[in-house]
Amino acid sequence: MTMQHHPSDETLLRYAAGTLEAGPALVVAAHLELCADCREQVRTFEAVGGAMLEGLPPAEMSTDALERALALLDGGKHAASVTAAVRQDRVMAGDIALPAALRGCRIGPWRWRGPGVRISRVVIPAAPDAHVMLIKVGAGRHLPHHGHSGTEFTLVLKGAFSDASGRYARGDLAEADAQVEHEPVVDQDGECICLAALEGQMRFQGLLGRIVQPFVGI
Ligand SMILES: [Zn+2]
Repeated sequence: MTMQHHPSDETLLRYAAGTLEAGPALVVAAHLELCADCREQVRTFEAVGGAMLEGLPPAEMSTDALERALALLDGGKHAASVTAAVRQDRVMAGDIALPAALRGCRIGPWRWRGPGVRISRVVIPAAPDAHVMLIKVGAGRHLPHHGHSGTEFTLVLKGAFSDASGRYARGDLAEADAQVEHEPVVDQDGECICLAALEGQMRFQGLLGRIVQPFVGI
């Protein structure tokens, strides 16, 4: 599978370091199941992180840790040769094959959230307040129009959508930061199902937003 859109290096580094919030980490883990390139990048970050921890006193792990790690990577592309076992199992849940990363999560029923839009709440037992959901949007429909105060991570599980930054198909991960007012529209030839998580809080706009907003608990 060839994907066009991947998590940023910063996101993968935060994932490798265990500092990404639970919701976004779940979405990234689901992407890693589908993307060998990003699995390799995470292994590299983990190896670099381990080397840094061994070589530096704790006080040195400061705000420039990201820049230092990225700089190290430029000269250390082959640092990692660890083979991480990424579970490729799929759990069937109704009409889609859910990523293995969702095992152990509570998956709510599809609930109507506007014309052509259904949402299923995903609860991570260890982080029940995390904003994670499955979104199912009909062919040719817009995803709910919204902005957000933090980064939004959206992984396509089925179908495809497009927005100003390109087209996203199965396995592609969109990272939209707080400045983005995006309005993704689903392909005409079939519905789209995404796994989405928020860092920070979402602010929906318009009538649909007022319908969705209570659901996501904001
Ligand atoms: Zn990737």
